[in-house]
Amino acid sequence: MQLKDKVAIITGAASGIGKEIAFEYSREGAKIVIADLNLEAATAAAKEISDAGGTAMAVAMNVTDEAQVDKGVADAVAAYGGVDVLISNAGIQIVHPLVDFPFEDWKKLMAIHADGAFLTARACMRAMIKQGKGGTILFMGSVHSYEASPLKAAYVTAKHGLVGLAKVIAKEGAKDHIRANVICPGFVRTPLVDKQIPEQAKALGISEADVIKNVMLKETVDGEFTTVADVAQTAIFLAAFPSSALTGQSIIVSHGWCMK
Ligand code: NAD
Repeated sequence: MQLKDKVAIITGAASGIGKEIAFEYSREGAKIVIADLNLEAATAAAKEISDAGGTAMAVAMNVTDEAQVDKGVADAVAAYGGVDVLISNAGIQIVHPLVDFPFEDWKKLMAIHADGAFLTARACMRAMIKQGKGGTILFMGSVHSYEASPLKAAYVTAKHGLVGLAKVIAKEGAKDHIRANVICPGFVRTPLVDKQIPEQAKALGISEADVIKNVMLKETVDGEFTTVADVAQTAIFLAAFPSSALTGQSIIVSHGWCMK
């Protein structure tokens, strides 16, 4: 067990990538805090983990709400005695051509990805510093932390920003043994991506099959989707890494779509 008794707060873990990380972390011995806007789904996921013999709790958290983030982290710390890993993963996608991008949609996406990453990292860093035994912060970036695609101005801007935030935390956190890294997946079949396929087909005037083959997976080396399991294994590797040699970095998990 690579994460035995580590306490991991995972935002957006009621669905998709975050949910898979929660389950894999539990199998590695971690105590799991599922922090999500959707409390019902978060509670169900925590119950599934508990039923399988793990330790998990759900907290209601809108990552854009400072008070809810601070309370959710405080509740997790009170319940499990601290926090060792934050995975700032909650996210949405909104696609429009830039010239038609409603400002409200821009602000909504930036708030969840950028404000959410900042608020959850700040709350967890404060707790980690108080505990005095360091910790790991992982941001869910994307290939769009390095590449751009049409229609995704807000998402690409926010995901690029997470790389900068992780680098700052790597520097500021070092004295307290807090590491920060970014995981950058290619396309993963989750509800977030399933929603985009018809939206992109409509916006680009092509079929859904063409969106998958010629837009989403075009630049991969083998035409394959990245899986939630691929991302979860990367998250285990980064959290279990034993020293600060690996901090301020990004790992791109994308079937070769993006190579750095
Ligand atoms: P998903 O839609 O399956 O899950 C997202 C979760 O975030 C949901 O449970 C939702 O309730 C929660 N959430 C949304 N807004 C929230 C808020 N304000 N506060 C708290 N929780 C909130 O999506 P996913 O595909 O698993 O995406 C997870 C992360 O991975 C996102 O940051 C996304 O940008 C990133 N990502 C996804 C892909 C992909 O192809 N699916 C690729 C690269 C990066």
